[in-house]
Amino acid sequence: MTEIKQNGLVIAERDLGENDKLLTILTERYGKVIVVAKGAKSVRNRHMPSCQLFSFASFGLRKRGNYYFITDSDLIESYYDIRNDILKLALATYLCDIVNDVTQEGNNDDEILRLTLNMLYAISKDLKPLEVIRSVFEIRIAAELGFSPDLEGCSICHIHNAGSYYFDIIDGIITCESCKASHNFSVENNPFYEKGLNKPILIVSRAIVDAINYIVFSKQERVLSFNIDNDEWTSFFDVAEKYLLNHLERGFYSLDFYKSLLI
Ligand SMILES: [Zn+2]
Repeated sequence: MTEIKQNGLVIAERDLGENDKLLTILTERYGKVIVVAKGAKSVRNRHMPSCQLFSFASFGLRKRGNYYFITDSDLIESYYDIRNDILKLALATYLCDIVNDVTQEGNNDDEILRLTLNMLYAISKDLKPLEVIRSVFEIRIAAELGFSPDLEGCSICHIHNAGSYYFDIIDGIITCESCKASHNFSVENNPFYEKGLNKPILIVSRAIVDAINYIVFSKQERVLSFNIDNDEWTSFFDVAEKYLLNHLERGFYSLDFYKSLLI
């Protein structure tokens, strides 16, 4: 029987019978683990505070079969403010759904865990507008997963001070206006063509390229410390979302719900 002591973030929860919960916890060293939390639905249970969605806690875990069971818990941070605001709750749920999708047991996903904790803190304390936090998370987690775009300059002539570029979000490269005009971006170059789809290519300004580069390369604790002009944000949010979701090749119901609240 393996017993481990780990700090971890509850990224998903569901009811298991009348009293218990099945938790998905992203740990510092053991990646994502599935945990049976006996009695955790009861307010009298000593592990209850650590067994809530978004709780970050120190857990003592014992493995039996495919599951871990909680032997000990000590709440570190509950991100309580997130629960009092439906929009914050929806966004935090989306971030945790992404994390649940991209992590697995046994992997060391400490960078992803730290990023998620930083963003939950930013959401709970209103450090930035929620849409900014969402986009930064989308770009940075794509980078942590190895999908960093190459935005040093035009992929053909390498010019790095064009006013705007065509951003090929699948290949993660940018091309300037004149190179796009002189090169044949034909159907053979489009891996989506066989599926009858257009390859997603977005026009991005130099400022957005700079912002993405900043988010990919900055120290994690500084990742929110950038700015762009007011009229660029909408386009930036769109690029960030499309970049991540195209690489994950999926959507999220929690994102649809969050966006339905913005309207
Ligand atoms: Zn060029």
